[in-house]
Amino acid sequence: MASNDTTYDAIVLGAGHNGLILQAYLGKAGMKTLAIERRAVAGGGLSTLEDPRRPGFLHNTHAFFLRAVTAMPWYADLELERHGAHFIEPELNVVLITGDGRALEWWTDIGRTIDSFAAFSARDADTLRRWHDEFVPIVAHILAPEARSPPLPPEERRALLERTSAGRRLLAVSALSPLQFVEQEFEHPTIKAGLLFFNGLREVDLRLPGFGHHIAALLASPAKAQMSRGGSAALARALEAAVRETGGEIRLKTEPRRIVVEGGRAVGIETAEGELIRAKHLVASSLNPQQTFLDLIDEGLLTRDLRERAQRFQYNLLAPLFALHLNLGEPPRYRASADHPELARAFMVILGLDHVDRIGDIVRHHEAGTIPPTVMWGACPTLFDGSQAPPGRHTAFMWEKLPYRVDGDAANWDRLRDEHGRAMLRLWQDYAPNLADTVVDSFTRTPLDVERELPNMRAGDLLVGAFANDQVGYHRPFAGAGNYRTHLPGLYLCGASSHPGGNITGLPAYNAAQVILSDLGLAADWLPPPIAAQLAMV
Ligand SMILES: Cc1cc2nc3c(=O)[nH]c(=O)nc-3n(C[C@H](O)[C@H](O)[C@H](O)COP(=O)(O)OP(=O)(O)OC[C@H]3O[C@@H](n4cnc5c(N)ncnc54)[C@H](O)[C@@H]3O)c2cc1C
Repeated sequence: MASNDTTYDAIVLGAGHNGLILQAYLGKAGMKTLAIERRAVAGGGLSTLEDPRRPGFLHNTHAFFLRAVTAMPWYADLELERHGAHFIEPELNVVLITGDGRALEWWTDIGRTIDSFAAFSARDADTLRRWHDEFVPIVAHILAPEARSPPLPPEERRALLERTSAGRRLLAVSALSPLQFVEQEFEHPTIKAGLLFFNGLREVDLRLPGFGHHIAALLASPAKAQMSRGGSAALARALEAAVRETGGEIRLKTEPRRIVVEGGRAVGIETAEGELIRAKHLVASSLNPQQTFLDLIDEGLLTRDLRERAQRFQYNLLAPLFALHLNLGEPPRYRASADHPELARAFMVILGLDHVDRIGDIVRHHEAGTIPPTVMWGACPTLFDGSQAPPGRHTAFMWEKLPYRVDGDAANWDRLRDEHGRAMLRLWQDYAPNLADTVVDSFTRTPLDVERELPNMRAGDLLVGAFANDQVGYHRPFAGAGNYRTHLPGLYLCGASSHPGGNITGLPAYNAAQVILSDLGLAADWLPPPIAAQLAMV
C-alpha cells in the first residue's frame, strides 16, 4: 500500500453539495482538506449536461427546483454569489393545470395564492390563510432553526416544545398524518391533491402519523422554488470555488476502498488503487449508511448491532423519478393559457393530477411495482434563463414518480424507457398541443440511471433514505449515529442520510460542521446559538 506524503486535516467522502459545503467550512476554519469523488465531476445531484447530439442545449439531470437556496446560511457564509452563483425565483412558482383547463396557482405572494385557492373553494382559501398565519412563526422560530441545527434527543426536544404554546401546537398537529391533516382541513379534491403532492415531493409517507405538520409548514414557509442561472451545476462550480479558495483539494475519479482505523480512531482512507491517505483530525462521509458502515469499515470494527442498523436503513418507495427531457424550438404553450395568460411565465407545472384519488393510485402502484396513470411535473428552464439553450431555442423536462423495481426488476427500465417517454410526451401534448411540432430532440432518464450515476441514491431514492419515525431527527440515519458522530472517534457523517435529510438544502453538512468544530474546540463567527437555547426563547 503506497502512502501519500501529504497528510490532510480532514478527508470528505463524496463531493456532492453536502460534501463540498462541509469541506468549505472546514477550510474556512483553517484546515487542510481533501474530498474524494468517484465521478469525473463534483456536485453530485447538482448536475447539468450539454446534450452531446445538440450542442448548446443544457439539461439538469438531477436537482432543478432548489428551494430557498439563497436563504440558506451557507449561501451567505461561503459567499457563493462572489463565487459566481446566481438564483432566479419566478413569481408564479407552481401551478397545477387540470384536464379541463383550470389552474391552481402558488405564487411567491401568499395573497395571490389565496385568491387562486378561492377560485376552487372559498372555504379552502380561508383555511389556507388561517394555517399560513398560524404556522409562519412556528416555521420561523422552531422548524427552520431545528433544520439548521444538530438535532436534540426526542425527549429533550418534546420537553422544550411543551413549554410554549407554539411548541404545543406543533406537537399536536404533528401527531396527525399528512393525509389526516388534509382530509380534516380541506374540502376541494384538486386542492387536496395539490397539497398531498407537495407532501410527496418531500417524500413524507402521507399515511404516517408524526408528520401532520409538514403541509402546514409548507403553506407557511417563505422558502420557494428557485433555479440556478446557467444550470444547477453552476451552484456546484461556486461551491468548488469556495473550497479551492480555502486551499481545499478535490480528487475526482477516485473511490475509497476502506476507512483506515488505528487505535480505535478513523485516521484516513485507502483508495481503490491502494493509496493510503491520512487525515489528522477526521474523515467525514456524505455517502449512505450501507456504503459508510458496511462497505468501508472492516467488519471487525462494527458490533453486530451496528451492522444490523446500517443494513436495515430504509429507502423511500415513492422517491424514484423518471425524467423526459426535450430540446425545443419554442416553449410549451398550454391550452389553459387562453383563460390564464400568466401560465406563459409559470415555473413548476404539474399535470395529470385533477383529483386527490390519483395520490392513492400512485402509492398503490409503487407498492405493486407497476406504472400508475401519469402524474408529472416539470419546467421550461429557458423561459427564465436563455443561457441553457442556443439563442431562440428552449429546453423543458417532466418528471414522474415511478417504481424503481418496475414489474419486479429495475433492469426492466432499460426496455421500457422509450415507450414510457413517448407516453409522457403524448400526455404533455394534450395540455400543450404545440409540442407536437416543436420537439427537436429528446431523451429519458430512469430510476435505474439515477442509481447507476449516484450509487449513494440506493434504489433510486434521491433523498438517500426514507423519512420514517425511526429515521428522522436525532435518529437519522439510525439511533447511535444521529448526531453526525459515529461509534468511531474521528469518523463523521455529513450527507442526505443525516438530519434534516435529502434535497439541495446543504443542512446536513452545515450541521455536521457545527458538531465537528465543537469537537475540535474551534470557534467560528458563523456558528448559530445552540438549538436548545433557541427553542427556549420561542
Ligand atoms: C432526478 C432527480 C431530481 C432531483 N430533483 C431535486 C430538486 O428539484 N430539488 C432538490 O432539492 N433536490 C432534488 N433531487 C435530490 C438531490 O439531488 C439530493 O437529495 C442531493 O443531491 C443529496 O445531496 P448529497 O450531497 O447528500 O448527495 P449527492 O448529491 O448524491 O452527492 C454524493 C456524492 O458522492 C459521490 N459518491 C457516491 N458514492 C461514492 C463512492 N463510493 N466514493 C466516492 N464518491 C462517491 C457521488 O458521485 C456524489 O458526487 C433530485 C435528485 C434526482 C436524482
